[in-house]
Amino acid sequence: MIEELRKIAGIEVKENCDLTNFTTMRLHASGTLIEILEVNSLLKLLPYLKNKNVSYLLLGWGANQLLPSVVPGVVIHLKMPFHISELDELKPEYELPASVGLNQLTSLALKYGLKGWEVFTGIPASFGGAIYMNAGTNLGEIGKLVKKVTLATPEGTFRTETIIPQSFSYRKNHFVKPGEVIVSAVISHQGTDQNITQKIKEYLEYRKRTQPLATRNCGCVFKNPLPMLPAGKLIDLLGLKDLQVGDLRISPKHGNFMENTGKADWDQFSSLLSIIRFQMDHWYGIEFELEVKIPYH
Ligand SMILES: Cc1cc2nc3c(=O)[nH]c(=O)nc-3n(C[C@H](O)[C@H](O)[C@H](O)COP(=O)(O)OP(=O)(O)OC[C@H]3O[C@@H](n4cnc5c(N)ncnc54)[C@H](O)[C@@H]3O)c2cc1C
Repeated sequence: MIEELRKIAGIEVKENCDLTNFTTMRLHASGTLIEILEVNSLLKLLPYLKNKNVSYLLLGWGANQLLPSVVPGVVIHLKMPFHISELDELKPEYELPASVGLNQLTSLALKYGLKGWEVFTGIPASFGGAIYMNAGTNLGEIGKLVKKVTLATPEGTFRTETIIPQSFSYRKNHFVKPGEVIVSAVISHQGTDQNITQKIKEYLEYRKRTQPLATRNCGCVFKNPLPMLPAGKLIDLLGLKDLQVGDLRISPKHGNFMENTGKADWDQFSSLLSIIRFQMDHWYGIEFELEVKIPYH
């Protein structure tokens, strides 16, 4: 299979690749990595994988995703070339590849004071991963800014989704079908306002104070059961902050974050998760939904 894959133009195939550094929590993982250098290559790659019954998962920045120690099938990572000069000009909307980092969008928002773009301040993500997750902060969600999304289908075509209010809900999209890959999207803003620049700076400071941004973690492990009921606060109230299994601990700064303090592995994550879930179920009687994606489990 690997030899056949290598014949597809515009991709790079890496067998037995160490994937540990491809997720922000850095749990040890390895597998076959396919990097997409040209978007049209997906039109050949996806049908090939489908016909051969090879499973695949999309990995953006791996900021909300944990991989098993050995990943079955293949991992697809978008790495299309993008020059930052494409984000120089002030435009009413931008069509951008899914591989662009949200941090690059925030730099543009800071420069022009783009109204609306403050909602994703400080979220580590690829543009595609942020759209898939409808990433957001307590200032709002990215889904409200997205106008159109282009996807590659497993049948080997591109399709365009026009975004409507029902396309997204809390940390969820409702239009990416199984096996589809977000390749690009159009994002708009609500004009310019110099106060936005200050707002983004202040929000970045707030995040630094309240979240363990410098540690190896996967963001919030659980979704908030209700907007006014943050999962982190509920974990704090149970006195679970600082609880440690091997090299993995609940962050002393934020109860909904788990930190890899050394060489944590999947088993340690799984044990810590079970302890938290048992306590939450026992004391609150609510089964907490995971925000972090855990493929193959
Ligand atoms: C320190 C820290 C702070 C965080 N703070 C926030 C926050 O404030 N708000 C928030 O919403 N999130 C937050 N997160 C979580 C994370 O940043 C977001 O969920 C982000 O959207 C993940 O993007 P990603 O590119 O890393 O996607 P990944 O984690 O790689 O993938 C997430 C999901 O999207 C799918 N996916 C990724 N790219 C594509 C694509 N091109 N096509 C189809 N599917 C795709 C993946 O298969 C997976 O199911 C935080 C994470 C960390 C580590």
